[in-house]
Amino acid sequence: MSTTRKRVLITGAAGFLGSHLCDRFIAEGYHVIGMDNLITGNIKNIEHLFKLEQFEYYHHDVSKFVHIPGQLDYILHFASPASPIDYLKIPIQTLKVGSLGTHNLLGLARAKKARILVASTSEVYGDPLVHPQNEDYWGNVNPIGPRGVYDEAKRFQEAITMAYHTYHGVETRIVRIFNTYGPRMRLNDGRVLPTFIGQALRGEDLTSFGDGSQTRSFCYVSDLVEGIYRLLLSDYAQPVNVGNPNEITINQFAEEIIKLTGASVKIIYKPLPTDDPKQRQPDITRAKALLGWEPKISRAEGLKITYDYFKSLPASEWDITPKEFIKG
Ligand code: UDP
Repeated sequence: MSTTRKRVLITGAAGFLGSHLCDRFIAEGYHVIGMDNLITGNIKNIEHLFKLEQFEYYHHDVSKFVHIPGQLDYILHFASPASPIDYLKIPIQTLKVGSLGTHNLLGLARAKKARILVASTSEVYGDPLVHPQNEDYWGNVNPIGPRGVYDEAKRFQEAITMAYHTYHGVETRIVRIFNTYGPRMRLNDGRVLPTFIGQALRGEDLTSFGDGSQTRSFCYVSDLVEGIYRLLLSDYAQPVNVGNPNEITINQFAEEIIKLTGASVKIIYKPLPTDDPKQRQPDITRAKALLGWEPKISRAEGLKITYDYFKSLPASEWDITPKEFIKG
């Protein structure tokens, strides 16, 4: 019966992670209320859910007052531009959704006595001086650099979330998400994986920034969703890293994509963006101990699924390079 279903609000529902979370909560038997303003989201990501009576959708910017009629059990706040080129394009909205948006949703959680999980990020560690990054590390962030609009919004988000927990007794969860990939990423979102796969599909050389020696650790989306689901249902209010600790350099990553796609292309070098973190790897000791969680999908497996997804899109959709952001 729909009246007995737990009700969850997912902001950023039409985005990459938001849409996968909608699918997961529907599959778990929840009533899902998706919310998005489609600045960076794509309604196609959740189109398949509109026919379901346990799904509803609000087109709304959470930086403005949020009203949801009826009971609410959980809120997952995933609305935010999340790729460096997006938050360079829309810096003020990025700051607002992480700050004003989070404030509105915490207020809603308090009013509804709902538990809220907010999407934080490895960017709170900035260009880290501790490696791998554990949750006790305070980070190395440039507040006024180009990434500051995202990093500081997310740091403020953590601060206000903890304040609502401490002073208002709201049940809160904070997940620090490391680089994640999978189907439904935007080919032109500027992040390294869709950029490289798009370039390989179009037969263009892969643009490695700097000397390509900077590292990242890539988590497949289903692993991330599992970690988030477990964290939401746990009773732990401190931040938890969720990501895949398997770390590689951007050049190695480019080589893997060239091999996977079989494209006859090479790696070319472009300037490193300002404040680009040199290394990143999650310490997931806490998630393992607390949630019994660790990633299951290898990069080879995840990349294959993701490549097949991008390849299956109409070729006209491959033709979108974020050229204005690839300098030099
Ligand atoms: N990067 C790259 N070529 C590209 C896009 C990104 O070498 O065409 C690099 C980028 O400089 C960074 C890494 O890949 O070091 C990951 O970038 P992404 O934008 O995916 O996310 P970030 O982890 O920096 O938030």
